[in-house]
Amino acid sequence: MSTFLPVLNEVEKKSIRERQPLPEAYLGLSEEEMSLRIEAAKAALGDRLVILGHHYQRDEVIKFADYTGDSFKLANAIAKHPAADYIVFCGVHFMAESADILAMPHQQIILPDLAAGCSMADMAPADQLEICWSELKQIGLASRVVPITYINSAASIKSLVGENGGTVCTSSNAAATLKWGWEQKEKILFLPDQHLGRNTAFKMGVPLDQMVVWDPNEPFGGLTREQLDAAKLIVWKGHCSVHVRFTAKQIEKVRAEHPGIKVIVHPEVPFDVVQAADDSGSTEYILKTVRDSAPGSKWAVATEVHLVHRLAEEVAPEKTVVSLDQFGCLCSTMFRVSPNHLLWVLDSLVDGDVVNEIVVPEEQKKWAKIALDRMLAIT
Ligand code: SF4
Repeated sequence: MSTFLPVLNEVEKKSIRERQPLPEAYLGLSEEEMSLRIEAAKAALGDRLVILGHHYQRDEVIKFADYTGDSFKLANAIAKHPAADYIVFCGVHFMAESADILAMPHQQIILPDLAAGCSMADMAPADQLEICWSELKQIGLASRVVPITYINSAASIKSLVGENGGTVCTSSNAAATLKWGWEQKEKILFLPDQHLGRNTAFKMGVPLDQMVVWDPNEPFGGLTREQLDAAKLIVWKGHCSVHVRFTAKQIEKVRAEHPGIKVIVHPEVPFDVVQAADDSGSTEYILKTVRDSAPGSKWAVATEVHLVHRLAEEVAPEKTVVSLDQFGCLCSTMFRVSPNHLLWVLDSLVDGDVVNEIVVPEEQKKWAKIALDRMLAIT
C-alpha cells in the first residue's frame, strides 16, 4: 500500500460536518401527505431522477424506488440511465460510494440520510488495512497475498485493494472471486466479513484449519508467522451485526415448530448456522430459490426482516415464509432512511439544491474502479 489514508477521507469528513438535520417542516407529516408529495417531486424531476432501493429498506421508502435489489445490482442499474442527473440511493453509505464510482461524471449521487452507514464496513477502516499490509510486507508475505474486499466496504478500502492487485466481491460472486484470487496468489486476505469469507471458502473445499482470523486491533493480526504461513485464507475480524444474530438453535426450534420447513440463510451468518441450514446464498439467490420452489413449500429465511416480510407477502398463500429469528433482525442503519428524508432530498432537487451528495475523491475512484472492473471481468 502506498500512502497512509485516514479512517475518514476529506469528503466524508466534509459530508459529516455538513450533515444537516432534517428540517422541521419535514417532521410530523402524515404518510399520505408524504406519498403525494414524493410522487409529485418525482414527476417534476422526470427522467433526470432515478431512485434506487436496497432490499433491506423499509416498505414506506422502497415503494418509491425505480429499481430494487442488492447493492451491486443497484449500482449497475445506473448504467441504464446515462441521461439521469440525480441518483437517489435509498441504502447505506458504501452503496452510494459504489454508485458514484460507477456513475457517469455528470451524475450526482444522493444518500437521503448521511447517518445511514454500515457497521460491517466500519469494521475495516483504511488505516487498519494500511497497517495490516505493511505488517504482511514486513514479514515478507504481502507478495504471496491477494486482497479481496466484499462490496460492503468503504471506497478507500476498495481503492487500496485495487492498488494492490485485488478485487471486490458480492455475496453472489464470492466463490468466483476467491477462485480467481487463488489463481493469482497462494493466499487471500478477505475483508471485512469473516463469515462470508469462511463460509464461501469452506463450500469450495478449503478446510477450516487453512483459515485464520486477522484481528486488526492486534499486532500482526494476533497471528504467528507459522499460522500465517499455513493459511490459504486470512479473514478480517469483521461481521454484520444483523446476520450474526441468527443461531443454529433457532434452526432447531423452527424445525420443531414447522415440520418439513426448509431453512435458507445469507452467507453473512456464522459458520455453524450455514452448516445447520438447508441452503445458503445472497439475497437475490434467496428470493429466486423461494419464488421457484414448489407450491406448499415452507421456508425459514435468515436475512434482514424487511426483505423476509415482503417475500412472505409476495408468495402467500401458496408458500409460507417466516423469519428464522422470531423477532426479526432489523438493519438499524438502513432504517435511518425514512420517507421524510426522501421527501426532503427530492424537494431540494426540485428547488435546484443538491443535499447529502456522496462524492468519492478522484484518486480513490481510480483504484476502486479498477478493483470493481476486475470483478466484472471475473464474473
Ligand atoms: S445488513 Fe449488515 S452488512 Fe448490510 S448494511 Fe446492515 S449492517 Fe451493513
